[in-house]
Amino acid sequence: MTTIQLQNLRKEFDDVVAVDGIDLTIEDGEFLVIVGPSGCGKSTTLRLLAGLEQATAGRIGMDDRDVTSTEPKNRNVAMVFQNYALYPHMTGRRNITFGMKSAGAFTDDEIDQRVEDAAETLDITELLERKPEAMSGGERQRIALGRAIVRDPDAFLMDEPLSNLDAKLRIQMRAELTRLHAELQTTTVYVTHDQTEAMTLGERVVVMNDGQIMQVDSPQALYDFPENRFVAEFIGDPAMNMIDVTVEDGTAVHDGFEIPLPDAGTEDGTPETAVAGRSGDRHDAVLGVRPEDFYLAQESPDLGNATFTATVDVTEPLGDSLLIHCSVGDAVFKIQAEPRTALQSGDEIAVAYDPERLHLFDPETGEARY
Ligand code: ATP
Repeated sequence: MTTIQLQNLRKEFDDVVAVDGIDLTIEDGEFLVIVGPSGCGKSTTLRLLAGLEQATAGRIGMDDRDVTSTEPKNRNVAMVFQNYALYPHMTGRRNITFGMKSAGAFTDDEIDQRVEDAAETLDITELLERKPEAMSGGERQRIALGRAIVRDPDAFLMDEPLSNLDAKLRIQMRAELTRLHAELQTTTVYVTHDQTEAMTLGERVVVMNDGQIMQVDSPQALYDFPENRFVAEFIGDPAMNMIDVTVEDGTAVHDGFEIPLPDAGTEDGTPETAVAGRSGDRHDAVLGVRPEDFYLAQESPDLGNATFTATVDVTEPLGDSLLIHCSVGDAVFKIQAEPRTALQSGDEIAVAYDPERLHLFDPETGEARY
């Protein structure tokens, strides 16, 4: 049983603030993914958890223990790295057992039994007597996972473990990690820059930027209810369209369209008219709409008159959909439409939208208005 708490955790390297005071609780048995762009501080956060870096300030707790300054070997966590970190001159079996033998905490029989169990779980029995040079990338990463599993740690800490694998193998290993987690139920913190990996693996996902946490939520909640523009643009591919608008009397206005905004209710259900500007207020905002939440009006008659006219710039067939790059006034945006829709550059299209799937962001702070 392991819950991990990060309290106001901070790490500075000279004048670089890598982790800027983060608070986070990782629940017992949870698969938590930390995702963010390069340099956002996710690896440093994981290394702080492992004890490979010392925090500049703040606290790391594991259950009731304060481990902020505890040596890595006394934290009982197992790290899995992108480059596998296997010893090239040792067989798979020796790579798996090396840490256990040197710790001296297990008898030879116990070690043999654990290796056998892990090998069965990961389907690597036939790799145990081979050296890493005779293994594929995926096989090496399985041995590295085996090394983590045999120690029966309180938590797995994984730093981009699938990045060196080709796309097909990555998808296969993703499914295997999910299965492994369902079987072992060990608290896992997994770092990646790949938002698809984060969404498919994480029970909860932490989005980081500039050393700070931008949002922590389930994958679906991050997608449907991004709390700020950063999360809205980072999660989802193709990315959410962002269009500068002026909000006047509850309507998002741009040269070429007027989109009435739905009432933004407050938490107790009373209308919060000031948010959408119903009070006659006029202010700038950024309208966010996912490409799949724009439709060709002819394909979506149920959306009624919620339409405006745009011009097709180019189309990109993606196989399972057609990505239409279009423009209205000086705004450019994308629509993900049904595949095989016959359209050409310069065509005028009626664009429909679902009023319930619109997002509005503050142009200064990026915070979601609703
Ligand atoms: P990536 O996906 O590229 O690995 P990341 O989100 O994991 O990025 P970190 O490796 O945590 O980012 O780095 C966060 C910031 O801290 C970066 O600006 C990085 O240059 C800096 N940094 C990390 N480690 C060190 C170090 N040992 N010395 C100096 N600066 C460092």
